[in-house]
Amino acid sequence: ILLCCLIVAGEAEYLKYKDPKMPVGARIKDLMKRMTIEEKIGQMVQIERTVASPDVMKQYFIGSVLSGGGSVPAPKASAEAWVNMVNEIQKASLSTRLGIPMIYGIDAVHGHSNVYNATIFPHNVGLGVTRDPQLLKKIGEATALEVRATGIPYAFAPCIAVCRDPRWGRCYESYSEDHRIVQLMTEIIPGLQGELPSNSKKGVPFVAPGNTKVAACAKHFVGDGGTTKGLDENNTVISMDGLLNIHMPAYYNAISKGVATVMVSYSSWNGKRMHINRDLITGFLKNKLKFRGFVISDWQGIDRVTSPPHANYSLSVQAGVGAGIDMIMVPFNFTEFIDDLTYQVKNNIIPMSRIDDAVKRILRVKFVMGLFEKPLADLSMTDQLGSQEHREIAREAVRKSLVLLKNGKYNTAKPLLPLPKKAPKILVAGSHADNLGYQCGGWTITWQGLVGNDLTIGTTILNAVKNTVDPTTQVIYNENPDANFVKSNKFSYAIVVVGEPPYAEMYGDSSNLSISEPGPSTINNVCGAVKCVVVVISGRPVVIQPYLEKIDALVAAWLPGTEGQGVADNLFGDYGFTGKLARTWFKTVDQLPMNVGDSHYDPLFPFGFGITTKPTKN
Ligand code: BGC
Repeated sequence: ILLCCLIVAGEAEYLKYKDPKMPVGARIKDLMKRMTIEEKIGQMVQIERTVASPDVMKQYFIGSVLSGGGSVPAPKASAEAWVNMVNEIQKASLSTRLGIPMIYGIDAVHGHSNVYNATIFPHNVGLGVTRDPQLLKKIGEATALEVRATGIPYAFAPCIAVCRDPRWGRCYESYSEDHRIVQLMTEIIPGLQGELPSNSKKGVPFVAPGNTKVAACAKHFVGDGGTTKGLDENNTVISMDGLLNIHMPAYYNAISKGVATVMVSYSSWNGKRMHINRDLITGFLKNKLKFRGFVISDWQGIDRVTSPPHANYSLSVQAGVGAGIDMIMVPFNFTEFIDDLTYQVKNNIIPMSRIDDAVKRILRVKFVMGLFEKPLADLSMTDQLGSQEHREIAREAVRKSLVLLKNGKYNTAKPLLPLPKKAPKILVAGSHADNLGYQCGGWTITWQGLVGNDLTIGTTILNAVKNTVDPTTQVIYNENPDANFVKSNKFSYAIVVVGEPPYAEMYGDSSNLSISEPGPSTINNVCGAVKCVVVVISGRPVVIQPYLEKIDALVAAWLPGTEGQGVADNLFGDYGFTGKLARTWFKTVDQLPMNVGDSHYDPLFPFGFGITTKPTKN
């Protein structure tokens, strides 16, 4: 009897918010009126997956979960393990009174970069060189498929910072020092989310429903790339005009392409923390630009409003939420946040209208992307991860991201590149020649990146060279040969691969921008004794002038990712070099900051420079 009546009751109750035929606005309205304060505040909270137990999800009605900097279910976890992990959390959300799905987010910042066997694309610093929006779109599409393959519908990308000082540890996450290139590159957004329908209203978030697209996140709003001396999370001193002309334009593009979310920057603008900047978040982004997706804080962004962090938490919560942040990344101390915000709302310190605005925005994204209709992932997409097709796109991106900075000693000499595939004996040297971790840089598998070849699957430059040369060519690899070794062997030529170690965020801040040891002596030992091409693997221009004379050919390869084959494709002339610097290459660090257009502009290689070559048959 009980069973029969439950079914009858269930049939009787029509839930408008669950009806996909209803317009999104009506579904939001219907759901909002059913929600308690606790359920609303829960939607605004994003916690780390390691604390997202089913009990926590249910008890606090948590709206979102993330993998913070390389937090994975298990080392080398398979796509299937990811799907199961995300689904377990989702099932808890679905079992709550209203069954609102949580949204899972991850830093897929150069491909699905936390995940073993994913295709790792060049970091943004290399992609800016390509100036190829269609390529960016393809990268977005491939990334979305790989992220969805692991059951995840939300990526904290792209970073649309305009890095004005390469001393910044996140400069490689920026496409260019020139906002126009950053603007072009926002074409990754329709790749990730799907193409915005032409009848869309300005500022409305769009993510194509189904399981092939992900919600994107333009970050970090705003001026993150302009901090003094490139210090991470620091202060950007610039006029309103400067902010609007340099750091803001890419947000116009992102919003006009329907970006679903925007992440706030840890940095300050003229001394005021962005996380509490109501004028820019609510006044500018939401009201003037009409952005209707949700604004997310950065990791512990509310805590870091004060220094030391967490010094006056209630005030920070009040100021941050009051400024217009909708979803708060409180990875671990979420109960404190929830208690605090609940208290402030119940005591009218923070108006209920602010909470309603935040929740509507979050629900809008969830409805638009079809999360209510298909909250659970299946295993049908797992073979997208690291697929051959995606690796081909990454390899193309590597080729187009390379910048040939020098080709032949002095202007009169014969160019060294393209290298002949057939030669008796060649040398491959340098700390970065056979190191996938170095090639991928930070934000790969772990937050700070890894060293070595075991982290994931890919092709090192050494292996790419071996794959490319004639089978009769002997390839000798010596990581750091001395000059005698080089002289006593009769090498036809040498490929020297050196650069920076992996790093992320403030750990990458550097005032000397030098090539890591023993790179300089490897260059000196090899290039003094045999014709050499030096390939630099780095997140930004580095000090190269002291060695330049010895070097026959110089290639900036940035952080190319897993498909090192793209480097060999160009070195041996299967493809020509087309890349043009999207950053200024300085002579000495004391010139910094120095960007194109500056009055003291005196670069080693100017913005836009790059020698082009034609493909050859050899
Ligand atoms: C970074 C963000 C990132 C977030 C989540 C922060 O430390 O600044 O770019 O999305 O962590 O991992």
